[in-house]
Amino acid sequence: MQLTTLDHPLARHYLTVLRDRDTEPEEFRNAARRLCYALVMEATRDLPAHGVTITTPLEETAGHRSSDVVAIAVLRAGLGLLDAVVDLIPHVKVGFAGVQRNEETAEPIEYYFKPPDLAEATVLILEPMLATGGSLSWAVSKAKESGAQRIICLCVVAAPEGVDHMRAEHPDVDIVVAALDRDLNDHFYIQPGLGDMGDRLFGTT
Ligand code: URA
Repeated sequence: MQLTTLDHPLARHYLTVLRDRDTEPEEFRNAARRLCYALVMEATRDLPAHGVTITTPLEETAGHRSSDVVAIAVLRAGLGLLDAVVDLIPHVKVGFAGVQRNEETAEPIEYYFKPPDLAEATVLILEPMLATGGSLSWAVSKAKESGAQRIICLCVVAAPEGVDHMRAEHPDVDIVVAALDRDLNDHFYIQPGLGDMGDRLFGTT
């Protein structure tokens, strides 16, 4: 498993906006979208492409067109990353994975999984908070059961516990993250983290 941490001043800027408890949902959503552009560019660095010939206003030249991509947004926080993915990869097909965590045990409780055809695509799993790893590992297992061959996870913040969990259960899957944080608290929140990503995106408490 390859874990890549973004190393870019703008990614650090937007992550700081997300971490700040005074950031309101509108600014939070904008920062999440902008940070996700950097996650997508990094995650798709080795995206397969096929060669094409096109004609510029001056002459024929060789070009590239990207291969199929599927994004699976893990509900509900993954929705905060989806706009950037759809904007950068307009031909992306989108699936949704509904999972709620048991607040006491942090075990994932599945309630929905609807993917498009995954077999030939590069599959990007959008799960902003990699805490214990239970939800992300579940979503990756579901994607594999549905035929996914090449999976890359996009996370905003990860805890070492979640990374270890993913390394143990899905060593064949890569992860791109904006920051690797210190640890989890007793309620399985990432520290220093940014709080509950879903609540902060959507203004719930
Ligand atoms: N989910 C969140 O939204 N935040 C955390 O810190 C952990 C899981």
